[in-house]
Order: sequence, then C-alpha cells, then structure tokens
Amino acid sequence: MINEKIALYGGEPIRNSYLPYGKQWIDEEDIKSVKAALQSDFLTTGPILSKFEEKIARYVKVKHAVAFSSGTAALHAACFAAGIKKGDEVITTPMTFAATSNCILYMGGIPVFADINPQTYNISSKSVKSLITNKTKAIITVDFTGQPAEYEELVSIAEDHGIIIIGDAAHALGASYKGKSVGSITDMTMFSFHPVKHITTGEGGIITTDDDEFYQQLIDFRTHGITRDAKRLMNKGESWYYEMHELGFNYRMTDIQAALGLSQINKLQKFIEIRRNYADRYNKAFKDIDEIIIPFQHEDSNSSWHLYIIRLNINMLKTDRDEIFKALQKENIGVNVHYIPVYLHPYYQELGYEKGLCPQAESVFQEIITLPLFPAMSDNDLDDVIKAVKKVIAYYSFN
Ligand SMILES: *Cc1c(COP(=O)(O)O)cnc(C)c1O
Repeated sequence: MINEKIALYGGEPIRNSYLPYGKQWIDEEDIKSVKAALQSDFLTTGPILSKFEEKIARYVKVKHAVAFSSGTAALHAACFAAGIKKGDEVITTPMTFAATSNCILYMGGIPVFADINPQTYNISSKSVKSLITNKTKAIITVDFTGQPAEYEELVSIAEDHGIIIIGDAAHALGASYKGKSVGSITDMTMFSFHPVKHITTGEGGIITTDDDEFYQQLIDFRTHGITRDAKRLMNKGESWYYEMHELGFNYRMTDIQAALGLSQINKLQKFIEIRRNYADRYNKAFKDIDEIIIPFQHEDSNSSWHLYIIRLNINMLKTDRDEIFKALQKENIGVNVHYIPVYLHPYYQELGYEKGLCPQAESVFQEIITLPLFPAMSDNDLDDVIKAVKKVIAYYSFN
C-alpha cells in the first residue's frame, strides 16, 4: 500500500465536503404524499395511519402493526404489553442504543445484560441461557447492523421457559432469517423510522405482532390507556362515553408522518438493494487487508445492512481506534461508533452495573468503526470512503 500523508497530519483530505454516516432519501413522491395528508381531514390517527400500518404488517407477514411516535415509544409499549413489572428481569444485549434497555427501566424492570457473540456481535444465546432465572420475564433481542439475531436458539429458550421475546429490529427492516421476515419471528418486533434507518417518518416507530391480546394492549397504551370499545367498557354509557383502564401515554403517530412512511415503503426494496450492493463493495475492497476484519455474516441470516462496521486488527496497527476514527473524520468521512456498551453509560453505572460485565462486548467496542452507508450516497462517495480507509490504515500499519 502507498503511504500518503493523512489529513490529520496536514495532508490533503480525500474529499472536501463531509460525508455523514447515514441520511434520509426524500424525493418528490414523498413531498406529494405529505402534502396530500396536510390537505386531508385528518392530521392525526386518520385513514393514512391505518394504511401505513396495514402495509407494514403485510410486508413482514403478520396480522397486526401498531405505529408510534418513535421507536422508543414503541419499545415502551411492547414492554407494557409484555406485562413487565417492577422487579422483573429482562435479558438484553449491551451492544445497542440505550433505548433498547431504557424501555425495561420505564416499566420498573431490571435489564440483565447478556454478552455478545464475538463473530456476529449479536446477543449470544448461550449467554442468554445462563442468565435465565425465575424472575426472567422477557428477552429483548437486537438485529445488530441489520443481521438477524440467533433466533432459532433464542425462540427455543423463550419457549422452554415460557417467556416473551421482543425484537428490537430498528436496524433490520427487510432482513430475513432462514427465509422468515424479521418482524414475524418474535412475539412483538419494533422497527424505527428515524431518518438514518431504512425508511423514515421523521420520528416514528411500529410494533408488529400476530397476537390479538398484545395488539389490543399496544393500541390502548398509545392513547392514554383509554378505550371506547363498547364490548370492553366496564360501565354503560352514551356514545361519547369512554374509559381509561391503564396508565398509557400519548404516543400516536400523525397522519402526516404516516403519509411520508407510506411513500417511503414504495422505495424500500430499492433502498435495501443499494445497501446490500454497497456492503458487498466494501467487503470486496477490504477483505484482503489484514488490519481490517469485515463483518461476518451467518448463513442463516440475510441482513438488510443498516450499518457497515469494520473491526480493526489492533495488533497490526501503531495506534488505537480513537486515533483512526479521528484520522478518518479529518479525511471528511463521517465515521461513527456503534455502540458504547449500554451499561457503561454513567446512568447505568450509577445503577450499579460494573465494567467487565460483558467482556466480549467491551473488547469489540474498542475496535469498531462504522463507515457511511445509505442509499442516497453516490458511487463516488463510496469510493472516497474506501480510499480514505485504505490511506489511513496504510499510514498506521506496522507492515
Ligand atoms: C434507532 C434505534 C432505536 C430507537 O428508535 P427511535 O425511533 O430513534 O426512538 C432503538 N434501538 C435501536 C437499536 C436503534 O438503532
């Protein structure tokens, strides 16, 4: 490899403009769809929302989908529907965004962190199994980077112990596991529509489920725990009458957002194809560079590639991840780190979780960098990332 002067030490950066790690794709169709919603009779909880929910349910092949104001709100609702109460233990992965375990805390539950599989970075089913107690109420999986979790093992653990599985599939819309769509594998599955995710509604999230009881709970929780369903009212009343049965929230998604989501779904297949194609090209560019470990893909899973993460072979480099990160930023490549193990955040440390709890997650965390990956990036953008990574790695390599 040629050794060029890196931008961190005064060399020319690979590009002049900053390339973010993720970004939405909005076109004229999206704008038309939102405009029509603004001119309709409903700005919230109208016919467009139902249409969006039906479309997502059909896409992942389940009976129900309930949309929320964010993916985080959706996770909160799923924990409510799963009946998580004070003192219940819920096993989850530390290699995720804080929202995955925060939703357990919202219900008074206790997050129990299982370590990750060092190959896939997904929650290790062996670790999950070893952490089951008689207080375990649920497992929350994450399809990290878009690669489905070890579902066969995880579902069988859940069945053996009569516990619920909630899938945090914020990364995995469009992914499949042994031919089954993510969204149809766990009792409830959450997708997020934040702008960096596969499709966006600005803010938004959804839960998919085949279970009628979970569905009813999700619907109630989204609107203050209030029902108007005559069959479920405890007292009789006039047609205006309604009852609050549970302590819910206002977690509704607007029709304006749903209109954006509906038009984004039309592009989902194209988005996923571009992501897969770009991930392939990264793999090809980096597979023969010993300093870089490309993302391992399990044969059971077909990832939808929300993130492309390289792991550094630190022993072969003269520096650490943080300097390589800084050097790539100086080349104007918007690299990122996903994620700091959740329990290392000060809030969780304050709760008593200790460093060293999940050694695999902690060591992977020290060595990973997320490269830009989104459908709206161009071939040239992709080439810039490849060039910058090769340049920076060559600079710091012992070879
Ligand atoms: C984005 C994300 C969330 C939260 O979704 P929001 O829609 O931003 O609330 C939860 N978990 C994971 C893994 C995510 O990536």
